[in-house]
Amino acid sequence: MAKDIHGVGEAMSDDVLSIIPSDPRWQPDRVAAGRAVALVEHLAPGVADGGDGEIDVTWYDEVTVVDCGANLERIGCPLCRAAIDTEWWGDLLEAHCEGGFAVLSVEVPCCGGSTTLNLLDYDWPCGFARFEIAIWNPGRSWFSEDELAVMADRLGHPVRQIMAHI
Ligand SMILES: [Zn+2]
Repeated sequence: MAKDIHGVGEAMSDDVLSIIPSDPRWQPDRVAAGRAVALVEHLAPGVADGGDGEIDVTWYDEVTVVDCGANLERIGCPLCRAAIDTEWWGDLLEAHCEGGFAVLSVEVPCCGGSTTLNLLDYDWPCGFARFEIAIWNPGRSWFSEDELAVMADRLGHPVRQIMAHI
């Protein structure tokens, strides 16, 4: 990057691009995870030598939220299409910050309907997973559909991506 676009005095922050399996409960074995991570290293210039990026690979015991941090602009209800109060979501995350989400089914506050947390319409995307490849300061933007397809092939399961700003 040629110019520093951050203003003086701005707090330090990080971008985290995460890859998770599309099924919140699915986990890869070590070999498959290793194949996917090798690909990520190849696709993320920020984690190359000299970059400030880093890759964290985590197997969670419980289903864990992978949220987009400050990038969250709106949560839509898949049933009535109303916007769901992001404070409701914030409280939920706080309540589950330890122990994960044993149950994803939920009664939404807008229309009282029953759905699952994984099906809410998050903008930007959020997800739930028991496996995550988190790329801190990846030095790039979203993966393309083609890149995600190759990653899914390496991992052995369809994948989703979450872009967090924290
Ligand atoms: Zn609703």
